Amino acid sequence: MEIRLVQGDITEQDVDAVVNAANSSLLGGGGVDGAIHRRGGPEILQECRALRASHYGAGLPTGQAVATTAGRLPARWVIHTVGPVHSAAEDRSELLASCYRESLRVADELGAATVAFPAISTGIYGWPMDDGARIALSTVRRASTSVVEVRFVLFDAAAHAAFERSL
Ligand code: ADP
Repeated sequence: MEIRLVQGDITEQDVDAVVNAANSSLLGGGGVDGAIHRRGGPEILQECRALRASHYGAGLPTGQAVATTAGRLPARWVIHTVGPVHSAAEDRSELLASCYRESLRVADELGAATVAFPAISTGIYGWPMDDGARIALSTVRRASTSVVEVRFVLFDAAAHAAFERSL
């Protein structure tokens, strides 16, 4: 598997699947989630609503992942995963690792060969970037998956530098 780091906007990536740092409601939010829904259009939300009704009445649990159409995005699918909110009192690293693992498992089910990830939980959910980068890279490296390219799409220079250091 090839791991690539790019600085940019995840909604612009020409990959099979983009991963959304969603919240458990699956009904949209800020950050990556807001950008994906704005740019991808209403079809994504429509499928998210259907998933809530059919499978996730109480919301998508933290650490799990589920796919929808990507609407008008260049990608074919959006894989929604719910990162943990960072906590100083409790180690939630395993849940963050699970987001990466489960997203790749869903990508395999879809037959996605190229997948773009944001730095899950490092925005509104407050995870320190260096630690988030370490968990992201070590988990993806160790994953057993048919995905051939994982592209980390980092929004700013500081995030990109943190991933570079960790890689
Ligand atoms: P979370 O709630 O999981 O913390 P956020 O969307 O708030 O999710 O942030 C996750 C990371 O994604 C942050 O580092 C943020 O700077 C970054 N980010 C925000 N918008 C985009 C975008 N359009 N493309 C790529 N990364 C983004």
